[in-house]
Amino acid sequence: MPFFSRLIDGYRSFAETRLPVERNRYQKLAETGQQPEVMVICCCDSRVSPEVIFDAHPGELFVVRNIANLVPPYSPTGFTHGVSAALEFAVQILKVKYIVVMGHSHCGGVRAFVEHRDRPDPGDFIDNWMALIAPAAKSLGDGSGLSQTDYLGRLERASVVATLDNLKSFPWIKSRTDDRTLQLLGAYFDVANGALEVYDPAAGVFGPVAAQPAAAK
Ligand SMILES: [Zn+2]
Repeated sequence: MPFFSRLIDGYRSFAETRLPVERNRYQKLAETGQQPEVMVICCCDSRVSPEVIFDAHPGELFVVRNIANLVPPYSPTGFTHGVSAALEFAVQILKVKYIVVMGHSHCGGVRAFVEHRDRPDPGDFIDNWMALIAPAAKSLGDGSGLSQTDYLGRLERASVVATLDNLKSFPWIKSRTDDRTLQLLGAYFDVANGALEVYDPAAGVFGPVAAQPAAAK
C-alpha cells in the first residue's frame, strides 16, 4: 500500500527499538486507560516536541499543540473550542495535577503577530488567532531600544504568562488551583541551543534549568 516512505521508515525504527521497551506500558495503558498527571500546551512548531524535550513515555503527557501555545479566555459559547475542550477533558476527567505552558524561541506565530500587526488584509486564521497575544504585547511597550530578536524573545515569554492568566479565567481551573490540586507552570525552550527556562511567578521572571542536577554536598 503506498504511503509516505519517511514515515514508514520511522515507524519501523520505532517498532524495532522503542516498542519492545514500551510494549508492556502500552498494553497496561490500553487496559487501564491513560492517567497522565501533566498537561502540556505548546506550539505546533516541529522543533519543540514536548515528548522529546521532557523525555516522556507513552501515557505521561496530555498534549495540546497550537500556533504559539495559546489558550483563549474562558468563553462557553456555541463555537467549536478545541483548546477549551482539551482543557475540560484534562482537568475535569483526567484530573491532571499540572498544566505546563511551554513557549519557545524563533516562534513563527509570534513573529507573524509582530510583522502583521498593522496589516490591512489579515489571512483566514493566523492573524486572528495571534491577536490573543495583543495584551501581552501591550504590556511590553513599543520595544524601543531592543533588537528584534530580544523583543521577540520577551514577547514569546510574555505570551506564556498571558496564557497562564487566561487559564485562570476557566472557573474549574481556578477552583482547582485555589485548592492546590492543580498547578499552572510556565516554561520556555530555546530552539538554538536546547536550553530550558521555567517561570517563577513570585519574581515574574524566567530562569534557566541546569542540564545536570546539582552535585550532592
Ligand atoms: Zn511557535
